[in-house]
Amino acid sequence: MRIAVYPGSFDPVTYGHIDIIQRASTMVDKLIIGVLNNSTKTPLFSAEERVNMISEVCQDLPNVEIRYFEGLMVDFVKEVGATIVVRGLRAVTDFEYELQWAQSNRIVCPQMDTMFLVTNVQYSYLSSSVVREYASHNGDISAFVPGIVAQKLNQKFS
Ligand code: ADP
Repeated sequence: MRIAVYPGSFDPVTYGHIDIIQRASTMVDKLIIGVLNNSTKTPLFSAEERVNMISEVCQDLPNVEIRYFEGLMVDFVKEVGATIVVRGLRAVTDFEYELQWAQSNRIVCPQMDTMFLVTNVQYSYLSSSVVREYASHNGDISAFVPGIVAQKLNQKFS
């Protein structure tokens, strides 16, 4: 069984992430979305809120499972028995950072491979931080996130 992990903060999940999730889920038997719960950072949404939002927007994808993790991604990957890590690439600026992680993770966990999916051009500008900034100023975020996520963002900033 081919199991992949798609790790990230997803604070909150955007159409860019969802596009990667949909595409990756067709390539593997099981895709586990790993929601990072980083105790040194204060995200806008708690890990539980982020997991719940992703669960709602991915409910039609039967081979997608959502979990949160703390600590090293490579440990989470081993724990769930995955051999593939999915990452999205938006621009060259993503690449250097991603390459460094992919290479160091291969040293620590040689059975694991990183699979990069290039962003859909339509979402190449999109990041969770831009969405948060828009929402904090009451901007229109309907092109960036599904309605359920927009609703949660608006509640946070109301
Ligand atoms: P961000 O806060 O920048 O959205 P995340 O940690 O949530 O970052 O991202 C998780 C993964 O999703 C990373 O591999 C990131 O490159 C990818 N990603 C984020 N936004 C997009 C997008 N618009 N298109 C494709 N991949 C994306």
